[in-house]
Amino acid sequence: MQTSEVNLQNLVPGTEIGILDNGFVILDDWMADDLSVVNSARVSFNRMSSTIEEKDDGLIRFLMREKHGTPFEANAFRFIIKVPIFVMREWIRHRIGSFNEWSGRYSQLDPEFYIPDYVRAPVEGSKPGQYFFESIDDGIAEVFRRDLEINSSQAYQAYEAALAKGIAKEQARLFLPVNIYTKFFWTVNARSLMNFLSLRNSPQAMWEIREAAKAVELFFAAAMPITYDAFCSNDRRAP
Ligand SMILES: Cc1cc2nc3c(=O)[nH]c(=O)nc-3n(C[C@H](O)[C@H](O)[C@H](O)COP(=O)(O)OP(=O)(O)OC[C@H]3O[C@@H](n4cnc5c(N)ncnc54)[C@H](O)[C@@H]3O)c2cc1C
Repeated sequence: MQTSEVNLQNLVPGTEIGILDNGFVILDDWMADDLSVVNSARVSFNRMSSTIEEKDDGLIRFLMREKHGTPFEANAFRFIIKVPIFVMREWIRHRIGSFNEWSGRYSQLDPEFYIPDYVRAPVEGSKPGQYFFESIDDGIAEVFRRDLEINSSQAYQAYEAALAKGIAKEQARLFLPVNIYTKFFWTVNARSLMNFLSLRNSPQAMWEIREAAKAVELFFAAAMPITYDAFCSNDRRAP
């Protein structure tokens, strides 16, 4: 799906957004809407609503601003994500959520490797320790991509050769580099999702995880538009 087409009207389980060269973010299913936030807050007064009303917008913004976080936990998003292993390694640091990953112990990994279009160099900023990135010279990028392709292909050949000799998958994979793709399920509530977005769809985040976080953000915005707007108005700080 094109990113501009992601909205609540056409969101169906299994909607996919392509990222990087071979990756994706799929919204496998979700149990999440703005009403769940409102009802989780109002249960304190033994009250429930069946539809969102105009005044609920203010309540959601109040909860966000004042860091009343638990009403934003009464929901769940389940994503299927395909990213290179070096991206998942950052993703899995987000402990509040559940992960299940494709196992390289039990099945043979596919020969799919991330070869970046955007090759970058660090540039020092004005403050000590501060730096940002900019695209590197085209010629250097081209050689880097070519070497990476050769390295990925040779590594996969060594992996297959080890498997052919009867070596266990869990050891044969030691040949494989961190740009090989992996897949995983990620189940997460909106509060933790907002924490993820504030950290990973940010200029400080690694470019590749940021691309994935942008796709996650589109799904979140479509499913919980008032909550999303309140999050953005709150300087993208999770409650
Ligand atoms: C730009 C960037 C650079 C980074 N660089 C490094 C690095 O160099 N090295 C490195 O190791 N990591 C690094 N990280 C990872 C970072 O330290 C966090 O582990 C990661 O972002 C997950 O954030 P989190 O703990 O808020 O998320 P989650 O684990 O999902 O936790 C969500 C929230 O729950 C609460 N929480 C969860 N667990 C605990 C706990 N045990 N005790 C108290 N409160 C808890 C906290 O409020 C936390 O914010 C980096 C992250 C970013 C975004």
